[in-house]
Amino acid sequence: MFPAHPNPSFDMAVLLERQRSAFLKDGPPSLEERKARLKRLRAAVLTHRREVGDAINADFGHRSRHETDIMEIVGVIQSIDYLTRNLRCFMKPERRHVGLLYRAGRAHVEYQPKGIIGVMAPWNYPFSLTMIPLATALASGNRAMLKPSELTPRTSEVIRRMLEGGFPADEVAVVLGGPDVGAAFSRLPFDHLLFTGSAPVGRKVMKAASDNLVPLTLELGGKSPTIVARGHVLGQTADSIVFGKLSNSGQTCVAPDYALVHEDDLDTFITQFGASVARFYPSGPTSRDYTSIVNDRHYDRLKNLIEDARTRGARVIEVGVTPERAAERARTLAPTLIVGAGDDAAIMREEIFGPILPVRSYRTIDEVIDYVNARPRPLALYYFGARDADCEKLLARTTSGNVGINNTMIHVAQDDLPFGGIGPSGMGAYHGIEGFRAMSHAKGVFVQGRWNLPSLLRAPFGKITDLALKVKLGGDLRSKQRG
Ligand code: NAD
Repeated sequence: MFPAHPNPSFDMAVLLERQRSAFLKDGPPSLEERKARLKRLRAAVLTHRREVGDAINADFGHRSRHETDIMEIVGVIQSIDYLTRNLRCFMKPERRHVGLLYRAGRAHVEYQPKGIIGVMAPWNYPFSLTMIPLATALASGNRAMLKPSELTPRTSEVIRRMLEGGFPADEVAVVLGGPDVGAAFSRLPFDHLLFTGSAPVGRKVMKAASDNLVPLTLELGGKSPTIVARGHVLGQTADSIVFGKLSNSGQTCVAPDYALVHEDDLDTFITQFGASVARFYPSGPTSRDYTSIVNDRHYDRLKNLIEDARTRGARVIEVGVTPERAAERARTLAPTLIVGAGDDAAIMREEIFGPILPVRSYRTIDEVIDYVNARPRPLALYYFGARDADCEKLLARTTSGNVGINNTMIHVAQDDLPFGGIGPSGMGAYHGIEGFRAMSHAKGVFVQGRWNLPSLLRAPFGKITDLALKVKLGGDLRSKQRG
């Protein structure tokens, strides 16, 4: 067995070659082999559940075990179970239509494993964003090399140990390290690379992958708008927005980034938001279930976003907190509403990735559509309101990776829905059959039948060719005229 290696300077190219030789030697794994790998992964995840919770808690400074179980472990197990259940169906060759001239033959598509999948993961959900791509890679019959984030080093170490114990390194391997290792990793000639992270790094990864023409899935982020229809500021609307914004303290790619609320409802929204925060987190940011900001750099970045908005004249409302309480735990940031920030404020231009919600008012749905369309296409868009003409118009006229209606973030937990962005929020998707297909090659196969009519169209051309052409083109013309 080829050993996994904790040393960042380890020659990743050699590891990739070992995986590739093993893949070519063994051939594509059967349904049973794939299920066995998924089962092994499932068992390893459940065995290490506590360790993962502790490591994430230590990496963040504070994150409750419940939040890690709900936001990471459940998602991973659910994905593995979904893939296991649907694998037979996903793997089935698909019969395809054959044109009249070729009817004696048969056509089908086979979904073949691509080979070795590279997975690069961020720090915000450091476990699930490594494990769900891995489960998808294994279900599709591939081997995988993973590069988890250096900003959550304890979790990355648990991932390495867990997978080293469960898989030979020529099947699954983990490479640890920071940006330099990430850059070297993204230059490897994988058969597919799935990158989850920020757009600036995504751009670099795409450039590096292009040197080897490696197919890519880019799972990026951005500013996901949340629109509340007039008169729809209900308790459950606020609850859902608070859930999306404050789970993991807003360090979530699909968190509602900013809210657009009808001008008549602005005050009610602020009140309802505060009431929901008080229910979810009764001791404010020192509540047991409130997560810390991952490191000082991100904490300072978020503080600066608030100060920048304040100095530009926006109203800053810290919700559910007294300053003494906020100081009790390291790197916790109070849930904060920013009301009336202009387009010049950094908070309206950058992805927030923290527990701060800018709220802007609007008058008409057309204004909302124009606002969203004037900005980069988001990863998610949320709408709270009735399924009426405004809702349909918003959905038809805006483009985002996914949409949630009267909820936030729950679309990600739907195993059967594709998950991915568009343009600046990402490229390609995984989850669902889309994930299986992204990591498989759809190979078209045509099998010649006993009668080979196209052979009549081969040289030397003569009367038979003319007759065949007459039948083919004449037939088409006649059918067109009939139509
Ligand atoms: P990041 O881009 O800084 O890092 C992601 C990975 O890239 C890490 O493993 C890192 O080590 C590596 N990396 C860093 N610099 C590199 C370089 N120069 N070359 C190659 N690799 C490099 O992202 P992050 O800060 O860890 O995560 C936050 C971002 O990820 C946010 O923008 C968020 O929206 C996005 N995100 C997206 C999704 C999604 O599913 N679409 C999920 C979570 C997070």
